Amino acid sequence: MSDVLAVTEHRRGELRDVSFEVITAGRNLADETGGDLHLAVIGGDTESFADSLNREGVDAVHTVSEGEEFDHDVYTQAVEALHADLDPEVLLMPNSVNGLDYAPAVANSLDLPLVTDAVGLDYDDGLTVTREMYGSKVETTVEVSGDQQAVTIRSAEWPAAEGVGDAEIAEFDVDIEADDGSVVTGFEEVGGGDVDISEADFIVSIGRGIEEEDNLPLIEDLVEATDATLASSRPIVDNGWLPKNRQVGQSGKVVTPTVYLAIGISGAVQHVAGMKGADTIIAVNTDPNAPIFDIADYGIVGDLFEVVPELIEEFE
Ligand SMILES: Cc1cc2nc3c(=O)[nH]c(=O)nc-3n(C[C@H](O)[C@H](O)[C@H](O)COP(=O)(O)OP(=O)(O)OC[C@H]3O[C@@H](n4cnc5c(N)ncnc54)[C@H](O)[C@@H]3O)c2cc1C
Repeated sequence: MSDVLAVTEHRRGELRDVSFEVITAGRNLADETGGDLHLAVIGGDTESFADSLNREGVDAVHTVSEGEEFDHDVYTQAVEALHADLDPEVLLMPNSVNGLDYAPAVANSLDLPLVTDAVGLDYDDGLTVTREMYGSKVETTVEVSGDQQAVTIRSAEWPAAEGVGDAEIAEFDVDIEADDGSVVTGFEEVGGGDVDISEADFIVSIGRGIEEEDNLPLIEDLVEATDATLASSRPIVDNGWLPKNRQVGQSGKVVTPTVYLAIGISGAVQHVAGMKGADTIIAVNTDPNAPIFDIADYGIVGDLFEVVPELIEEFE
């Protein structure tokens, strides 16, 4: 009982990045517990998902062919059954919308302590989980009691696993009992089209510095000239100028682009929580003391209404 079981995630036929990150987190932990790393992939095209998930360090991939998209009842029952079969020491799940849907139900049913939103994991005679609190201002470490534990991990905190592995891939049979308590009626994307900013490589992100909605076309010109993806801080979404799926931050999305160009964004902790994983951060702000400059790799102290047209000209 020193194995690690990690649950992967997919949406609309594609594995999500966190599926490869949970491999890295799980492998590191399994090295410390001295056990094997098992993955669970539930629903969708499990065969091709299992092939992609067969990365270095994975010992086994268990597939449960049931349904296409996420379903609370299927995930809950499949993870519970796999847990009963494998008896792992630690159960890892993504701290995603889906993960936070089934993880508490699974932990409750299996009577496991559950720690959510982990940004670090350590095992030395027991599990210690690192979490962030007060809008990422404070880090806490939680020593988790019990012989078996459940943890949800934050996306973009561990690098994605790479390299082809030699995992055993096996279908896991589980009888899913229909439960009238919840019924999946379909899959609907949050407004704003099919753009997923968490997958974008170059993000132009705007904040309250743009002052009013009428100034959006200027930014859109820059987005076009740089072939970037448009995102924003929360006030822009709260004002209804951009849809919710463009919001970066603690209550928005976590992004990990190669370049994050922050325009007229102050760098509040709730915003930084969503973009600090970018490879290169460039900030444009009139205030030289804006906190965004503390984490920026390059900064332009200047008025965006002067800087952005020059950037557009340069890129065109
Ligand atoms: C529970 C909770 C969750 C939250 N979640 C999120 C979240 O997910 N994402 C998020 O972004 N925020 C979130 N917030 C809000 C957050 O605290 C900040 O209020 C927000 O990030 C500020 O957005 P901003 O940087 O666009 O605006 P401001 O803080 O107002 O900053 C605007 C910046 O623009 C600069 N500026 C002004 N004019 C110009 C100009 N002409 N040219 C260049 N620069 C200029 C200013 O110097 C300033 O630095 C959350 C808050 C709470 C309480």
